[in-house]
Amino acid sequence: MTPPNTITKHPASRGIQPRKYRAIQRRDLDSLPQLSRLSSDELLGMKAVASVLPFRVNEYVIDELIDWSAIPQDPMFQLSFPQPEMLAPDDLAAMRRLIESDAPQEEQTALARQIQLKMNPHPAGQMEVNVPRLEDGTPLPGMQHKYRETVLFFPSQGQTCHTYCSYCFRWAQFVGLDDLKFASREADSLRRYVEQHSEVNSILFTGGDPMVMNASLLSRYIEPLLDIDHVLSVRIGTKSLAWWPYRFVTDNDADDVLRLFERVAKSGRHIAIMAHFSHPRELETRVVQTAIRRIRDTGAIIRCQAPLVRNINDNPQVWTSLWKRQVLLGMVPYYMFVERDTEPKNYFEVPLARAYDIFSKAYRRMSGLGRTVRGPSMSALPGKVLVDGIAEIHGEKVFVLKFIQGREPSWAGRVFFAKYDESATWLDQLKPAFGEKEFFFEPAMREIKAHRRSPAWGDRSKFVRRLSEFGHVEWM
Ligand SMILES: *Cc1c(COP(=O)(O)O)cnc(C)c1O
Repeated sequence: MTPPNTITKHPASRGIQPRKYRAIQRRDLDSLPQLSRLSSDELLGMKAVASVLPFRVNEYVIDELIDWSAIPQDPMFQLSFPQPEMLAPDDLAAMRRLIESDAPQEEQTALARQIQLKMNPHPAGQMEVNVPRLEDGTPLPGMQHKYRETVLFFPSQGQTCHTYCSYCFRWAQFVGLDDLKFASREADSLRRYVEQHSEVNSILFTGGDPMVMNASLLSRYIEPLLDIDHVLSVRIGTKSLAWWPYRFVTDNDADDVLRLFERVAKSGRHIAIMAHFSHPRELETRVVQTAIRRIRDTGAIIRCQAPLVRNINDNPQVWTSLWKRQVLLGMVPYYMFVERDTEPKNYFEVPLARAYDIFSKAYRRMSGLGRTVRGPSMSALPGKVLVDGIAEIHGEKVFVLKFIQGREPSWAGRVFFAKYDESATWLDQLKPAFGEKEFFFEPAMREIKAHRRSPAWGDRSKFVRRLSEFGHVEWM
């Protein structure tokens, strides 16, 4: 089938010089001219960290995003280059010694591995509790089905990124700690699983970054879903707009990617690009603005999300500017996340109380168009938990917390209270308020963890959940 060619080069993309993608990695640190302003000591620290944690940038990030006159504080530099404080002082010193003394590579690799294993690479329970199975019992490790309506899918060819974020909570998979064994015919098992689950309305592709895949691979995953009547939306979680906007403008298959988005939209479904933007600078270049324009022209909606991270975006002005730019460019602010409880968290973490303060100051400065954003939100084991307020109730200072997604659907929208704690950074550090012994969801979570029961997902047939029931109107 040849789709109608409505994707033409947008006028704005004329004059944008194509770039050829090339990854810049640890071995390139010595030869990067921009780093020559650093002392050899600083460079050594950087190499030590890059031996333990993944490091990859590209020329767009180096030439157009980082302000080299402002390093090391520059937020784009903090976001993409290894920082010495990301390792514990002892580990940093040990790694530096090995590199300085030119120790054999095996010795350096062994120490790096030892440090990585100490670093809590996986948030508790994420691995075991979320793996779905086909009806014949086959486990599907490249998928997560945590919330009733939505399946998360990790295509094995999308497990890398155009640049690694220094704060990435999935770093373990980039250094080979996670053995990512995916089913060989995974596109087919995704289709089969979704077919067997009529409660699933939304498929969310994530990674790594699915947009490192070429258009034909992407379509092999996406197109079969368009034959399933209860699939109402397709989402792609990606940092490519920020790290490599050429993906949608001058890359060889840029037009094919856009045509694929357009096919999803024309099928009557919602296609959302869940764009990860951490800082307003990422929205300033001509090429990113062109990429956004071109994606929007396909009928796809761009929704924006990012974690709140110390040294990068931990101030309200940055978020106001980020959200305002997003709205101006026709995108939808969606989530502000609390950075996860994986190392090197101590370098990036922001206490919940401070996160709430930053969020609410920035939120106040937005018109309603930007108040589609929700946060600060923790993607925790029982669900997505919002810090919705700080209040004093009967003389007790409390966090007002709210589920915006729950492992049990009935939890969504439910409010609960925790003792105020100025330094807590994650849900598991909070204690129930008002003298309660545990939070309301804890008994259910114990049972779910013990595999004694699956979540109570209720009667699947109750709602209108099929595309054909909506009376799809042809458009374009
Ligand atoms: C956030 C998330 C989703 C999507 O949730 P929405 O509220 O629909 O955006 C789905 N699965 C997992 C595991 C998530 O963390």
